[in-house]
Amino acid sequence: MDNVLLNALLRPETIAVVGASSVPGKIGYTVLDNLIKCGYQGKIYPINPTATEILGLKVFPNIIEVPGKIDAAVITVPARLVPQVVEECGKKKVKGLIIITSGFAESGRRDLEEQIVETAHHYGMCILGPNIVGTLSNSDKLNASFAPFLPLNGKASLVTQSGALLIAIDAATYTRNVGFDKLISIGNMADVNIADLVIWLDEDPNTTCISLYIEGLKDGRQFIDAGLKAHKPIIALKSGVSAHGAAAAASHTGSLAGAAKVYGAAFQQAGVIQASDLSNLFDRTLALSLQPPMKGDNLIIITNGGGVGVLATDAAEKYGLPLKFAPEDVQTELKKYMPEFGSAKNPIDLTGQAGNEWYYDAVRYAIAQPWVDGMVVLYCETAMTNPTEIAHGIKKALNDSGITGKPVTVSFVGGEKSASAMTYLIKEGIPAYAAPDVAVNAMAALREYDNLRHMVSEAATPCAPSDQAAARAVIRRVREEGRNTLTEIEAKQVFSAYGLPITKTLLARTEAEAVKLAQKIGFPVVMKIVSPDILHKSDAGGVKVNIKDEASVHDAFRSILANARNYKAEASIHGIAIQEMAPWGTEVILGSVNDPTFGPTMMFGLGGIFVEVLKDVTFRVAPVSKGQAMRMLGEIRGAPILAGVRGESPRDREAMGNLLCNYSHMILELGDEIAESDANPVLVYEEGKGLKVVDARIILKKK
Ligand code: ADP
Ligand code: MG
Repeated sequence: MDNVLLNALLRPETIAVVGASSVPGKIGYTVLDNLIKCGYQGKIYPINPTATEILGLKVFPNIIEVPGKIDAAVITVPARLVPQVVEECGKKKVKGLIIITSGFAESGRRDLEEQIVETAHHYGMCILGPNIVGTLSNSDKLNASFAPFLPLNGKASLVTQSGALLIAIDAATYTRNVGFDKLISIGNMADVNIADLVIWLDEDPNTTCISLYIEGLKDGRQFIDAGLKAHKPIIALKSGVSAHGAAAAASHTGSLAGAAKVYGAAFQQAGVIQASDLSNLFDRTLALSLQPPMKGDNLIIITNGGGVGVLATDAAEKYGLPLKFAPEDVQTELKKYMPEFGSAKNPIDLTGQAGNEWYYDAVRYAIAQPWVDGMVVLYCETAMTNPTEIAHGIKKALNDSGITGKPVTVSFVGGEKSASAMTYLIKEGIPAYAAPDVAVNAMAALREYDNLRHMVSEAATPCAPSDQAAARAVIRRVREEGRNTLTEIEAKQVFSAYGLPITKTLLARTEAEAVKLAQKIGFPVVMKIVSPDILHKSDAGGVKVNIKDEASVHDAFRSILANARNYKAEASIHGIAIQEMAPWGTEVILGSVNDPTFGPTMMFGLGGIFVEVLKDVTFRVAPVSKGQAMRMLGEIRGAPILAGVRGESPRDREAMGNLLCNYSHMILELGDEIAESDANPVLVYEEGKGLKVVDARIILKKK
């Protein structure tokens, strides 16, 4: 999306209100009133065919009759009139349309929505909405919405898919003391989408943090790209994490790939920090909009109370920043700023006697220590000390230290005095919270931001060369036979074309051939039914392992065929696969789905009961870098099993990293063909000994 267009849309120099009304209570009245009341400095043109003057402004019967240029038009007329208005705006060379009106795709009128987008594009305009509250900007004193006032002034900007939430958040900015520059309602996203606004806000001089409330993205990959390109922290709250995915639950991976996991993976890959709930979105946004990223893991906590110190310590562990003891020399110095019974280990407990001077000394010294990467300052209101003075002491200490690149968050626990001291701190750019765990969580967001910035800079390149043409040739043959499921043999050919290590597998059509092939592969062998109609071979009695001699091949051949016919009489049977018997190893599973939002998405987990019962799996949108692949291995709860526990040697993580990386490239490159796939199980051996994919499955998209 063109930034010039978005500038005109969101920071217009002139604005028209189409459907302006003189009747208080009507949206066409409220928007006009808000524009005037909130101090918009540009020209405002009310448009209404019957009125002559509203709220002291000259009214034009039609937008075309307005003299001079119009950057943006807010449209509030009923849905059925919108197409004509859009046409007129086009003729007037308006650049951006803020379509508040509802009654489009959200209520079954996708056709009407498509029509207005088409007209808008025809004239080179963009559309925000439809079905929105509007857009607000403190720095432009622009309230082009029906939300009653501009938000508390701040440095974050919010994009929300829920209009109702925008109005609520607008009001809550004052009670929660979290300021925003812009609040943008994005509604149906018929044209301008979240990715466009992320890119635009990344360039906006008045925004330092991009905050998102997301119900569902339309183009997940475009969003990931926008996130990757952004230079500012982005934080997202995703709602509706429970229903999604169930629809495509034909496969194991499908049923496990709920929105929470896939969106979570995508956010991480896009470098987007997550909020756990609305309150957390406010809290983290505040810190991210005011403080620099935390560039290392060493967190120091300064407190005047043991209780809040312990609460913060617990939170630090919970949110991934476990406390370490401060180095000896730091402890020795800090000891000077506290009574004998204080503690300089970390948390630094200045004790309840600590007044603003002690806080000043401790904060000023500690923030300047190279060991310290971030600081949480806690204060418990006491009878003897004054919260306002303490707040001033902290602020002065930070100023006097001259340190600006390390983040600080604060929590004052107490009553009104503490609350007003925190208001002061926030105004001074120091995020302050009513509870110690919240201050720590906000710090954790600043740490996550730094980690994500580093992660997203890795490029994803395949680890092994691939032969896409060979893979496509296999798929073409399957298509020619009118099938959309590959047999294990075919799936393994595709896997193998992408460098995935598979067990050697040959197809026997007759018993005699089976014996010959078993001898060729070498005993022991595994024999399996090969039928595109039998996806779960064991369920059909179609797998026999550890076949040691010729006689057993004969037996197995007959019983597998009999079992398969019994299981599904009409199944088309290609024959019996004779395959090398892989030595026993740790079972892991790989899977892929074609996510409706993000496209080819992969899953990794431990196999067997771990996946069945514990659902211990992790996801990534394809492709993944080797680094991301290695991180996936560490993300599952069963990670210690791969690392080697109780005398077991560690598994070949290097081989697994390559496997994941190559698999991700396979599902991406063949994304136009593959609907779902899995490798279940993959047997993984000791370090240096590699792994083997012993079962492979690919289901093609319906065409
Ligand atoms: P399905 O999942 O369709 O029932 P599999 O091919 O996964 O069939 O086989 C079932 C089980 O048999 C696997 O989980 C694995 O334990 C074992 N197995 C299959 N193939 C081999 C092989 N080549 N080497 C060793 N074990 C195997
Ligand atoms: Mg299997």
